[in-house]
Amino acid sequence: MHALTCPICNALSGFMNQRCPRCGTTVGIHLPSRALVVASEEGVQIDGRRWVRCSNWDDGGCNWMTPAEVDEDSIGLRGRCFPESLIRRQPDPDDTIAIDKMRATTLDLRLLVFQLVDLGLAVEPFWRRDGGLAFDLLSSQTAGEPVMIGHANGVITIDLAESLDAYRERLRVDLGEPYRTMLGHFRHEVGHYYEHILVETGAGAEEYLDKCREIFGDERTSYADAIDRHYKFGPPRNWRESFISEYATMHPWEDFAECFAHYLHITGTINTARESGLMLESDQVRFTMNRDIVPLQSYADEPVERLLYDWKWLSTMFNRVNIAMGARPLYPFDIPQPVVRKLGFVHRVIRETARRTPITDPLLAAGPANHPQREASQP
Ligand SMILES: [Zn+2]
Ligand SMILES: [Zn+2]
Repeated sequence: MHALTCPICNALSGFMNQRCPRCGTTVGIHLPSRALVVASEEGVQIDGRRWVRCSNWDDGGCNWMTPAEVDEDSIGLRGRCFPESLIRRQPDPDDTIAIDKMRATTLDLRLLVFQLVDLGLAVEPFWRRDGGLAFDLLSSQTAGEPVMIGHANGVITIDLAESLDAYRERLRVDLGEPYRTMLGHFRHEVGHYYEHILVETGAGAEEYLDKCREIFGDERTSYADAIDRHYKFGPPRNWRESFISEYATMHPWEDFAECFAHYLHITGTINTARESGLMLESDQVRFTMNRDIVPLQSYADEPVERLLYDWKWLSTMFNRVNIAMGARPLYPFDIPQPVVRKLGFVHRVIRETARRTPITDPLLAAGPANHPQREASQP
């Protein structure tokens, strides 16, 4: 997560703040530059384009900016910020119980999209292309139909009821999961989407599919049988030796999605630590550490082992901090060698894709000139 700073006073501002906590300036997130800009009523001029507040600013507490005028290609935005334009279905406005849950859930959606774009992954909206990314945000408590969290042909369904702590926590305990969050659901489901478009179809199929099957298993094995088996017999007894979670053991698709989610957990958290200036100094600790842990600006050109080595030390530290507060560990997972290999594959697919097809969409990528961070930083 980026340390977003106020364009006027440079104070650290939270990811969801509409106002700088220090100087009170109204600020909004500009996705192409992944930076905060002054979000005045009339909008702000960036790279020859006027950006205004998302239409969900007042009612939904969104703090993102969106282009004021759009061409045919971006007509699907309809005044909303880019992440929220990906919402295909949401509760009726008079379903106030479900609408209530939208605020927290759309925040997680914005966090997800911000990170995907930051990793260099293209996000193709459903309103631009069949099979593009879409989100159906529905509540199992009021929808009048079963709401199954899942992914199918670009459409990710999320159960808004899971934004309720009591509801989600009960499921977590019932299912024996060490970790269950709404952001985790988003990261997992989008893993299915990217496996489909980057590994199983298109140019990726030739390059990655065999390797993917070798590492994760053959995804053509029956999914229905896998679900049956999983809920009847549970995971294999020794699952910890080769899987990141019990759920990952169910089917090769779930294994990939779990690893994709963990890749986002790990890179997002390391990035947050780095932007806070955090490092672990080996000569300052009371235990044996071979070297300092200094999170890198980018792990793009590093083997995944480097990322996971830094993460091992940092997550151990974060876990200890949480335990000191009486909370559950931040990252209650172990990464055995086979999972290192799986994460290495996810790392490779994401990095190679980002390098091969840089984002050119003006909604997502900033032009080289007039970087708004510089433009706006003059008080
Ligand atoms: Zn400020
Ligand atoms: Zn918005």
